[in-house]
Amino acid sequence: PVGIVVAGAGQAGFQLAASLREGGFRDPITLVGDEAALPYQRPPLSKAYLAGKTDQEGLFLRPPGFFAEHAIAHRPGLRAVAIDRAARLLQLSDGGHLPYDHLVIATGARNRPLPVPGAELDGVRQLRGLADADALRAQIEAARAIVVVGAGFIGLEFAAVAAGRGLSVTVIEAAERPMARAVSAEMGAFFRGAQEAMGVRFAFGAGVTAILGRDGRAVGVALADGRELPADLVLVGIGVLPNRELALEAGLPAEDGVRVDAFLSTPDPAISAIGDCARFPSSFAHGLTPDGTVRIESVQNAIDQGRCLAARLTGKPAAYGALPWFWSDQGRHKLQIAGLAGPTDASVVRGSGSAFSVFRFRDGRLSAVESVDRAGDHMIARRLLTAGTPLSPDQAADPGFDLKALAL
Ligand code: FAD
Repeated sequence: PVGIVVAGAGQAGFQLAASLREGGFRDPITLVGDEAALPYQRPPLSKAYLAGKTDQEGLFLRPPGFFAEHAIAHRPGLRAVAIDRAARLLQLSDGGHLPYDHLVIATGARNRPLPVPGAELDGVRQLRGLADADALRAQIEAARAIVVVGAGFIGLEFAAVAAGRGLSVTVIEAAERPMARAVSAEMGAFFRGAQEAMGVRFAFGAGVTAILGRDGRAVGVALADGRELPADLVLVGIGVLPNRELALEAGLPAEDGVRVDAFLSTPDPAISAIGDCARFPSSFAHGLTPDGTVRIESVQNAIDQGRCLAARLTGKPAAYGALPWFWSDQGRHKLQIAGLAGPTDASVVRGSGSAFSVFRFRDGRLSAVESVDRAGDHMIARRLLTAGTPLSPDQAADPGFDLKALAL
């Protein structure tokens, strides 16, 4: 046997390799990754690492010795460039190739580029990898005026860190509220207030038409309404695109993500896909997307899909059905989300002040729970959503209703 080859040595690819060994898999495992570092976690890149509160070693998923100890061949700085499905070969950027018995596409996602003039100027940055975070850490020190394009999770986490250092930060967002695609209006309003209390300014309903430059460096941002905001550092956080090219060029279906079935297999039984790059059927997406499939960008999804696929490849196949959950740290507030809600799902607020939860309902059924600084609600929500326990909007709204007892 030539074993399992994984394209992408991130959260999902690493988890798969580790879980395969845990599950007793004995054939070779090769992790091909185009980044230089050992597999690492990304969440701190926009949180503790950006703020200088943890170092590189704190990011690594395992110490260097782990890989040799578990006979996992990690090949850093190498890109998978094409798949020869007939010959079961993965072609590499150094001209070599790797034969596989099973190939796993775990290539993650990349940042969506900002399609305006000036986006290539010095001082315009995005945040996805360690190299981006290192560059930003250095530039943040020297920055006088920061503009963040996009009020999504990464933009807001970055804004919170920068504002926490006393820097001038303005967040520009096309929608009318922060995190509009991901959370309720109620939760968006809370985080808007929390960010403003940290000193962050917002421009909602605003479109960027150009980054203004002088001598090759960004000096400002031009908005569609004619305003010009000064900026010597511009962080663009307008979402990601799945790295699906390997699959597409090999003739595998990959519209907005590499298509896989409930077992995370592509139509080629020798090729699977996991993590940010994969689009899969989910019962939690019922009524949310036209065909009930989703692509989820989260640590939970990368880890659980790595585990699920490892189980199948070691003879214990099960459909992927893990509950989606997520978190975001902004200043001193922690947002936690369990489940998947759409923008039209109803909202019921439980609790008040700066610690509350928003229970979301779709077609009368609990779809998601967003909590700020209410970790207890989040854990209860995970149990209710995993078990599919019925909960009515009236029960969720009633502070006297014992949610904990319901979840037991
Ligand atoms: P990745 O971890 O991106 O790994 C994919 C790897 O494949 C990358 O190293 C990539 O360079 C490599 N690659 C791509 N193409 C090729 C190729 N052709 N050949 C070889 N290698 C290739 N999630 C949360 O749940 N909570 C958070 O708070 C949170 N914060 C985040 C903060 C930041 C700044 C970022 C960027 C992400 C955050 N996420 C968070 C999302 C989470 O990190 C991702 O969902 C997770 O890393 C996905 O794992 P993955 O393995 O699918 O992709």
